[in-house]
Amino acid sequence: MTQPVCLTIAGLDPSGGAGILADVRTFAAFGCFPSAAVTSITFQNTVGVFGAEHQSAETVRRQVEPIIEDYDIAALKTGMLPTREVIEETAVLIKRMPSVKLVVDPVVRSTSGFDLIDDDALRSLIAVLFPLAGLVTPNLPEAERIAGFKIGSIDDIDKAAAAMQAMGARNVLIKGGHSVEANIGDGKATDYLFEGQTRHLFSADHIDTSATHGTGCTLSAAIIANLALGKDLPDAVKIAKAFVTEAIRKAPMLGHGHSPINIR
Ligand code: PLP
Repeated sequence: MTQPVCLTIAGLDPSGGAGILADVRTFAAFGCFPSAAVTSITFQNTVGVFGAEHQSAETVRRQVEPIIEDYDIAALKTGMLPTREVIEETAVLIKRMPSVKLVVDPVVRSTSGFDLIDDDALRSLIAVLFPLAGLVTPNLPEAERIAGFKIGSIDDIDKAAAAMQAMGARNVLIKGGHSVEANIGDGKATDYLFEGQTRHLFSADHIDTSATHGTGCTLSAAIIANLALGKDLPDAVKIAKAFVTEAIRKAPMLGHGHSPINIR
């Protein structure tokens, strides 16, 4: 039996809720073979992020190179890419996998308010990685920061997606779980997929809980796992969203802050 290999290039959350540990568990839950390269060692738990030690471009390259020289990577996601040098190196590595399915999760800041990327790095993420990505997956605050305006309506969501497509992203998934205002998603947790010019909506019940640590990481990991398994993009997003909703519903309520979700 051949098992598709998924690769995540992202941050390490040693407390296990987000970052590469969430990604690896998600790949495995869908029957894909997980591989992972660390871009930053963060110091955190469910309460907050207390700091981070970023990797250099060289240590990222020296992790990824042996993996891609050995395995055929079916699908890849990027998560926390903290600096311009790490982003530029990641782009060079991705170009060595011309047929890989790439999802870029533009991780900007943690729920607890810690900046996971600086402004210079965000500019470079947009310039060098958006044009390579099959899908970019910002949540609402990330979409606002990237598009440069406040999102208060569905019309604004359309405009933000169009702005990101003008920056080179082929397809964009704006995740509405951060806002349940009546004008965005009718009180549901709705995600908006812009596949070229076609808009698909994915709605789920908004679950009133603080157990949301790692939802973004898990969603993009579940999307690439399903792309690696041969699903098309709307199907992969639909399955991934159902997986995350279930994981929130069954969260183990660990720790004293935002509990991790139940990835399995
Ligand atoms: N730590 C790492 C390494 C991450 O990649 C992320 C988000 O992608 C976070 C922390 C923040 O996770 P959350 O906002 O779900 O707490």
